[in-house]
Amino acid sequence: MTLAHRLHDWFVKNQRDLPWRRTKDPYAIWLSEIMLQQTRVTAVIPYYERFLERFPTYKELATASESELLAMWSGLGYYSRARNLQKAARLMVEMGSFPSTYEQIHELPGVGDYTAAAVASIAFGLPRVGLDGNIVRVIARWTAESGDVKTFTIRARLQQVAQNQIDAEDPGTYKQALMELGATICLPKAPKCLYCPINEDCGARLQGLQYSIPIQIGKTTQISEERTVLWIRKEEQILLWQRPLDSKRLAGFWELPEPEKLTQAKLFENLGEFSHSIVNHKYRIILREAKLDGGAGDLCQWVRLDQLKDLPISTILRKSLRILKLDPRRERTEGVS
Ligand code: SF4
Repeated sequence: MTLAHRLHDWFVKNQRDLPWRRTKDPYAIWLSEIMLQQTRVTAVIPYYERFLERFPTYKELATASESELLAMWSGLGYYSRARNLQKAARLMVEMGSFPSTYEQIHELPGVGDYTAAAVASIAFGLPRVGLDGNIVRVIARWTAESGDVKTFTIRARLQQVAQNQIDAEDPGTYKQALMELGATICLPKAPKCLYCPINEDCGARLQGLQYSIPIQIGKTTQISEERTVLWIRKEEQILLWQRPLDSKRLAGFWELPEPEKLTQAKLFENLGEFSHSIVNHKYRIILREAKLDGGAGDLCQWVRLDQLKDLPISTILRKSLRILKLDPRRERTEGVS
């Protein structure tokens, strides 16, 4: 019996009720897979629902303004995903439909092997499975893989195993079951082997290696840094700066100024602190009240607080607003870190 068949019944009984599991619409499944890249399920759910409500098909997404698109995405991070979604939606308008083969889906901007396989299998029932962190962990443990899962050779081996175990009649459920097992049972630090539906022949468990597999020799270390951002308010306006539209990161997004950018600012009390991670950097962000000693200069602009909900704003600004209980979308972004 293949891994797919053994996971099937467990998944049907134990799966979490997630909004993208209630549809077979390829557009909605593609959207969820893009949003879930690098982002937690609980954070994605409200964005996914809002996004689909505003852009129910690729046609509405294709004609949205960039400003509205980024405002809808604001807080999810990795903004190139939103821009690529729109580029892909415009291609679909040209093609006249959502692509229906693995190769065509793979050609969409922002879609790699994993996402193409996920959409192809869940929406179109094509026998494809890709590797992401959860699936790598499950397959590496199940096969007691002793090599470094970051290397090409080992990944190719895991890919082959995952593909060989597929259920050709229901590849979408197989992919989702592997993901679900990795997300809820075969956890990175504390796998719950007692409750696992494949524990009887899991190589790592049988050899007592479930805590040391997957092996990642070249794992990147995290760099910690501290940064200060300034809260400068004048009645119902705050001072912000907008990243240049050709910026490599967060192009067009609005940010709180830092003291280095606004040397004429006088710093006052600490309003709060929070953490913020970007790739392998972990920042401690300190929000300081400040006042201008002179003009705002060319870089910054006064922006009305009630305009923020319609502007693309950085996650650091959004978290700062939340600390001050001013987040214009506080009710709707609950649960987002
Ligand atoms: S038995 Fe344990 S290590 Fe093996 S797949 Fe299940 S949860 Fe993971």
